[in-house]
Amino acid sequence: MSARVLVVDDLHHNVRLLETKLSLEYFDVSVAMNGPDALAICEKGGCDLVLLDVMMPGMDGFEVCRRLKSNPDTAHLPVVIVTALDQPADRLRGLEAGADDFLTKPIDDTALMTRVRSLLRLKAVTDELRSRALAVREIGGTDPLALAAADTGDGARILLVEDRPSAIDRIGTALARKHDVTVETDPQQALVKAPEGAFDLAVVSLDLEGHDGLRLCSQLRSVERTRNMALIMIGEAHDKARITRGLDFGVNDYLLRPVDRNELVARVRTQVRRRRFSETLRRALQTSMELAITDELTGLHNRRYLDRNMGPIFYEAARHQKGLACLLLDIDRFKSINDTYGHEAGDEVLRAFAERVRQYVRPVDILARYGGEEIVMVVPGVELPDARAIAERIRERIEASPFPVRGGTQDIDVTVSVGVSVRRATDTGPADIIKRADDALYRAKSSGRNRVEAAAA
Ligand code: GH3
Ligand code: MG
Ligand code: MG
Repeated sequence: MSARVLVVDDLHHNVRLLETKLSLEYFDVSVAMNGPDALAICEKGGCDLVLLDVMMPGMDGFEVCRRLKSNPDTAHLPVVIVTALDQPADRLRGLEAGADDFLTKPIDDTALMTRVRSLLRLKAVTDELRSRALAVREIGGTDPLALAAADTGDGARILLVEDRPSAIDRIGTALARKHDVTVETDPQQALVKAPEGAFDLAVVSLDLEGHDGLRLCSQLRSVERTRNMALIMIGEAHDKARITRGLDFGVNDYLLRPVDRNELVARVRTQVRRRRFSETLRRALQTSMELAITDELTGLHNRRYLDRNMGPIFYEAARHQKGLACLLLDIDRFKSINDTYGHEAGDEVLRAFAERVRQYVRPVDILARYGGEEIVMVVPGVELPDARAIAERIRERIEASPFPVRGGTQDIDVTVSVGVSVRRATDTGPADIIKRADDALYRAKSSGRNRVEAAAA
């Protein structure tokens, strides 16, 4: 993993030291001697992780961190704050500024490499999401990155798995100020509750009476529905070995007893924000993918979806010599509906038309808006008599009851004409079937409308 680490420090000696250590581990190191330079490098996308000294003249490390974390373009960068050992309060200030972790000087080599590696691993996951979210931003709409960066990290749903009454009180009270906390003393129950509660984060005690908290953490990581939940362990200082194992298999962070309330609150917020960052990007992505294949007015699939998916269905049917039908449904005299009742009412009719046709579709079928007031239905595994019967049923259903528009104040009688075709052995691609359905539709129109016409099998 050749990642680019930015070392920010105003003292040459410190910079040189970190540069040497990181270069030996094959990291690509760049340097900034002050806050503004560091921000400029980050904004240009010049690094993957920031090692940030606190004490700098002008803009200090806390301010640099705050700015990085509030800028949508840099909020995803992991920031490790480097503090002096004799300034424990700085750790907290760093976390409050949004830092992902901190190191104390003199820097311990193992601690440095562990932090850097684990943060870079996490970043690799977010990067993938982020690059796709950038594409969404190009398309327009709400900027998912801005949304994610603006999140306060408050109001999270937290599952606290702890059985010591004093700790429940201490931790629970501290977290309940900003979050919605559910306490569970039994890890078995926690495992049941976790997937159902839509939790953002779980805080898990490693010293539960008669239970291994670490096992619960690993189970939460392996279950699909809790896999992306943030996890924080709480353990004793002498339990470093288990804590390290936890971090190895993906627990996000830990706190040592006695738990410092402020540090707890700060670490929880960092994890909540990080998790929501990924979730926001993931959701934006999902939406954009759905938008790309959905017709906005009717909620049916769009032409693009049909074009992408009908090919594979056609060739599958051809290979197994199975039936494949195509129904082309076109509302009769739709133009006059628009002309008489207005375009808005026309839209309402289209939506309701799509809804009625949808009732006849199985999960394997494709239903897509083909043109203005045309819907295409692709029905695998069906021969001509059945295809014709489906078409006839839909035609009857459209004619059977009028379409209410304008909040039910008016009813419009609507009819539909349907062209039906099925795959022939001589067809070379999906376009052949659609073409015959289109020809059949034309015949249905010219022979009086409100009827089904089929091309010979
Ligand atoms: P025919 O029976 O021959 O199909 O007649 P028609 O009037 O339905 O067909 P034509 O193709 O002449 O007109 C289709 C009309 O559909 C014209 C167009 O303005 C209208 N249209 C297309 N898309 C939309 C839409 O999204 N909303 C509304 N309200 N009207 C649409
Ligand atoms: Mg029409
Ligand atoms: Mg038409």
